[in-house]
Amino acid sequence: MSRSLFSFEFFPPQTAEGVEKLALTRKRLAALQPDYFSVTFGAGGSTRERTLEVVQQIKAEGLQVAPHLSCVGSTRTNIASLLKTYQELGIKRIVALRGDLPSGMATTGEFQYANELVSFIREQTGEHFHIEVAAYPEFHPQARSARDDLLNFQRKVNAGANSSITQYFYNTDSYFNFVDSCRKLGLTIPIVPGIMPILKYSQLARFSDMCGADIPRWMRKTLEGYGDDNEAVQAFGLDVVTRMCEKLLAGGVPGLHFYTLNQSGPALEICKRLGI
Ligand code: FAD
Repeated sequence: MSRSLFSFEFFPPQTAEGVEKLALTRKRLAALQPDYFSVTFGAGGSTRERTLEVVQQIKAEGLQVAPHLSCVGSTRTNIASLLKTYQELGIKRIVALRGDLPSGMATTGEFQYANELVSFIREQTGEHFHIEVAAYPEFHPQARSARDDLLNFQRKVNAGANSSITQYFYNTDSYFNFVDSCRKLGLTIPIVPGIMPILKYSQLARFSDMCGADIPRWMRKTLEGYGDDNEAVQAFGLDVVTRMCEKLLAGGVPGLHFYTLNQSGPALEICKRLGI
């Protein structure tokens, strides 16, 4: 990959051991000179402080970092204060999301959907931030219809999003079809595929059921066949995901965004096989 955008996503660890492990993961991945690292944000602000800490650590290492910011369950005042903190830290890129309401939290707060957050960021900070939003080639599970979901993506772009990162998928047709539909609507922003390496089948199956990402039958059957043999699962995953990235790159994607799950090994191996 010559000069496509590529990035790695982390979640803020809960323990001191996790923090140490993430520092090592970061160091290994930084050697690939990614365009940026991103750090997730627990819905309802549940990781507000931990996300900020990891963002500060990455920034202090002289690396580019994009905090995720989810708005559900939050207030304008809270979001405005976090935006100010990020501006003061010299952060230039934000991944703006709705998030999912944590169980037990009854109200959505002052924002209902991500397009409202994008508008709010623009209103508060003008053009300071490069805003990324989420895209769903296989459609968001709560969308009333595929068309509605596409129109929601359009609302986020119209509100001021500069580019987007997709939910993960294992079927490249879904990605290329989504891009075609967006282009037909006149939406020209980059749509960077989100890449999920396969580490553990049970975990992947659970995630996929929740977020509506399809694991094709042939993959499910093969993965189920490996049972608890995680080595076999990972070896198969590396082959499948590398092949998918090759197809995406050959199809002209603007970059790749890796969901690392805070591990460097699989992302490094895929990048190595891709010649990154
Ligand atoms: P939205 O774009 O608001 O869409 C949510 C749903 O509402 C969709 O079904 C949409 O079609 C529908 N919708 C939108 N507007 C309307 C309307 N006006 N009327 C009716 N329906 C409407 N979650 C986190 O908690 N923290 C993270 O850090 C995080 N990072 C992510 C990073 C990426 C790249 C991706 C793809 C997802 C991430 N998520 C994260 C998950 C995300 O928060 C969930 O998928 C969430 O359910 C939707 O967020 P969104 O920003 O896509 O929401």
